[in-house]
Amino acid sequence: ARKPNIVILGAGYAGMITATRLNKELDANEANVTLVNKHDYHYQTTWLHEPAAGTLHPEKTRMKISDVLNMSKVNFVQDEVVEVKREEKKVALKGKGDIDYDYLVIGLGAVPETFGVPGVFEHAFSKWTVDGVRQIKDHIEYQFAKYNNEEEPDDSSLTFIVAGAGFTGIEFIGELSERVPELCQEYDIPRNKVKMYVIEAAPTALPGFDPELVEYGMNLLENRGVEFKINTPISEVTSEGVVLKSGEEIKAGTVVWATGVRGNPVIEKSGFEAMRGRVKVEKDLRAPEHDDVFIIGDCALIINEEINRPYPPTAQIAMQQAAVVAKNLKALIKDDALHEFTPEIKGTVASLGGKEAIGVVGNKKLYGNSANFMKKMIDNRYLFLLGGPALVLKKGKNPF
Ligand code: FAD
Ligand code: NAD
Repeated sequence: ARKPNIVILGAGYAGMITATRLNKELDANEANVTLVNKHDYHYQTTWLHEPAAGTLHPEKTRMKISDVLNMSKVNFVQDEVVEVKREEKKVALKGKGDIDYDYLVIGLGAVPETFGVPGVFEHAFSKWTVDGVRQIKDHIEYQFAKYNNEEEPDDSSLTFIVAGAGFTGIEFIGELSERVPELCQEYDIPRNKVKMYVIEAAPTALPGFDPELVEYGMNLLENRGVEFKINTPISEVTSEGVVLKSGEEIKAGTVVWATGVRGNPVIEKSGFEAMRGRVKVEKDLRAPEHDDVFIIGDCALIINEEINRPYPPTAQIAMQQAAVVAKNLKALIKDDALHEFTPEIKGTVASLGGKEAIGVVGNKKLYGNSANFMKKMIDNRYLFLLGGPALVLKKGKNPF
């Protein structure tokens, strides 16, 4: 019989773990496995706040796909996915035309959500990708380098605004607030010239997270000079800074956007029914009415039945889904029953820069050194899953 074509779209957490697990589940003669990704490298999205602020070299957050996957078992195609032609069972690629699939796994990740706020794409930095964060880092450094060369320096060029106090915004300001004293020293800038704001629409930072830990984190960041504006929706981004819902303007040379995510636009372009670009998938992780299409990671929507609300999209869930999808692909090929996916949330840990972090693991609250240790072990564990101890040695973090 003809070997089925399994095509995986996206080499993020979802796609990489699907590919590595499939290598273990299937023999080479059971299926052709193709992985399509825009770049020839994989990056750890969950680390990107660090290179964005310049506290970690961007090379540490990426790896060549061919260095970690067994390329004799996976056919890698570097290209951009444009659309899934569901009726024809084809994927349209920007450069190389159409490819056929029998089974498809969509793991194309997320793009920024603006909730319609004008000016974000023109005037703010919103891309949480390797290319995107390298630009944030360069722009920040340029603000410092420029300052003492101006005849009449504009102090707002040293104002940094983070839009959104979700985990991305908080982790980024944690890194930036650690780096600012170093930048001030390096570029001969008095520390009091630099202003950092985190602006959040909801009545609290990190809505939904443990209030005691939120307070710990906010106090720590305030002590590093961060000003929080809570209950303060941003209604526009301009070339000068941001406009708040109240009408007040805050001038800033840098606006970093972190107000949440939506599923990759390929989902809606391909005609899948979606909410904020995410498809509410079946228990077995297939798209409704599509026996041949699995959707996982930030493109998938799954409901936490205890509270009847969607789970926040995380790498933790993307990786767990990928393991189930690999099993389910095997089941389809062998004509076995499919497995249902149930997330097992181990906890949430957020870094605050330096050796600081906050988190809940199981029912234990962690902060300071113990949370920092946990966060770095989580980052190292992922490297271990992908590339074993060698990758941890090469790219891992010191947990102490
Ligand atoms: P991704 O990992 O983003 O991968 C998508 C891949 O698809 C990328 O390689 C991309 O290049 C590729 N791609 C996109 N479009 C195309 C296209 N058209 N054609 C071809 N390829 C394409 N989650 C946690 O669980 N814990 C954390 O600590 C955590 N920290 C985070 C920190 C930051 C700063 C950010 C931004 C997010 C964090 N998250 C965290 C969320 C987590 O990163 C995402 O939930 C996770 O990356 C989703 O995995 P994914 O595989 O769906 O997408
Ligand atoms: P988020 O949705 O978690 O937070 C976005 C925040 O922006 C919200 O608090 C929201 O109220 C606020 N906001 C929305 N519109 C606004 C506006 N106009 N003005 C001001 N504030 C506004 O998004 P995120 O932080 O980008 O995270 C995305 C996903 O990645 C989440 O699922 C998150 O859990 C996950 N993540 C996890 C970690 C971690 O576990 N350490 C780190 C980063 C991200």
